[in-house]
Amino acid sequence: MSKPVVAIVGRPNVGKSTLFNALAGEMISIVKDTPGVTRDRIYADVTWLDKSFTMIDTGGIEPESGDIILSQMREQAQIAIDTADVIVFITDVQQGLVDSDAKVADMLRRSKKPVVLVVNKVDSLQKYMMDVYEFYNLGIGEPIAISAANRTGLGDMLDEVVKEFPEDADTEEEDDIPKIAVVGKPNVGKSSLINHLLGEDRVIVSDIAGTTRDAVDARVKWQGRDYIFIDTAGLRRKGKVKEEIERYSVIRTVTAVERAHVVVIVIDATEGVTEQDAKIAGIAHERGKGVIIAVNKWDAIEKDDKTIYKHTNRIREVLAYMPYAELVFISAKTGQRINRLFETIDAVIENQTLRIQTGVLNEILSEAIAMQQPPSDRGKRLKIYYMTQVGVRPPTFVIFVNDRELMHFSYTRYLENKIRDAFGFRGTSLKFIIRQRG
Ligand code: GDP
Ligand code: GDP
Repeated sequence: MSKPVVAIVGRPNVGKSTLFNALAGEMISIVKDTPGVTRDRIYADVTWLDKSFTMIDTGGIEPESGDIILSQMREQAQIAIDTADVIVFITDVQQGLVDSDAKVADMLRRSKKPVVLVVNKVDSLQKYMMDVYEFYNLGIGEPIAISAANRTGLGDMLDEVVKEFPEDADTEEEDDIPKIAVVGKPNVGKSSLINHLLGEDRVIVSDIAGTTRDAVDARVKWQGRDYIFIDTAGLRRKGKVKEEIERYSVIRTVTAVERAHVVVIVIDATEGVTEQDAKIAGIAHERGKGVIIAVNKWDAIEKDDKTIYKHTNRIREVLAYMPYAELVFISAKTGQRINRLFETIDAVIENQTLRIQTGVLNEILSEAIAMQQPPSDRGKRLKIYYMTQVGVRPPTFVIFVNDRELMHFSYTRYLENKIRDAFGFRGTSLKFIIRQRG
């Protein structure tokens, strides 16, 4: 269900960003209408043959001196070991093999994670091939020669990467258990929430096959049913630089969200919703996950009869791109409305996998069209023939039209609202694919 994570590690200037951009191409996972989502290419969705994966560039800011380079590379490598299924270790044939490469290679080898060794800047095979062999000395397998700048060798590299993907990391049984990622800024109460859920019988499942992630999985029973909570709070990395800490927390959030069915975004009621919350929420939104906003520390707020509306309005305003998100006001400290949180999780999971029959869907469609005419441009009017649901998680619909160009964003939004009026789909985004039919 969840996509494998591939992390790129390597010294400054070996060509990590160049490679990243070459692979990400236009497939960059930033949804254009999600404000607040970082434009930084920290991660991207990549598809190679029939396999898709999430790629992460662990390289952060460029350090100045040699010492710092090595310690930062160690840091990067550790992030990769913690979060990735496959690590792409990239080196530079023109700089040759250097000491820090060897040290990082040792670290990667000890981690037992699959590593694909890549030698970049092999712009001419004739000129550099002998130098490439030198990289066998790293002892982490056969070096693959590429030129990120010329986009050569990338296919061979991707073949090796996808070969290393876990067969089926999740067993059938585990896949049936809802997975819920608990994400949010520091100090909003993520650990408190997880601890409250776990209560007395703390069961940590950190040894799920194929996962050595730094997020800790906690199995919780509620009313006889099992849930796996993916905790992103537990382990905190002490980076020296603010940018590094932020990068790391984005990487951690992305990988946790990727594995989850539903994402609980915890925000602090005493602080109100912030831009940083919006950034984190954007990650769940663009990946099509179920979304619940848990407004925590509700016990610590002075309330009157308008408080809840004020908070709701403010959250809806800041997170305007995800009007479908469910809101629950909780207290991890007192346990207030934790039951409601579970009920909401159940409902969202159901909505994420809801399937609407084509007949019913097209009734809604023709009603909607009758109520508001599709747009036209230069005398040509959009015709919508037919609509069908092709997928779940998130619910995905194909709309067949006469001319894709005429399908205006706002009309898709209008149809989405009609579908939501009829079926709810609370807590989940909906995906629309527009197909042209002659
Ligand atoms: P990063 O610091 O590892 O992200 O490295 P960058 O992607 O920023 O690349 C560092 C420099 O190497 C840039 O000047 C790139 O243009 C250059 N570069 C990247 N890939 C290649 C390549 O395949 N061949 C050559 N000759 N230069 C490259
Ligand atoms: P995390 O960094 O998101 O994991 O946040 P923590 O769980 O460590 O909580 C940060 C601080 O907020 C701690 O001092 C908690 O005691 C406090 N806190 C967490 N949840 C609540 C709550 O529901 N009500 C109140 N009043 N304080 C809370």
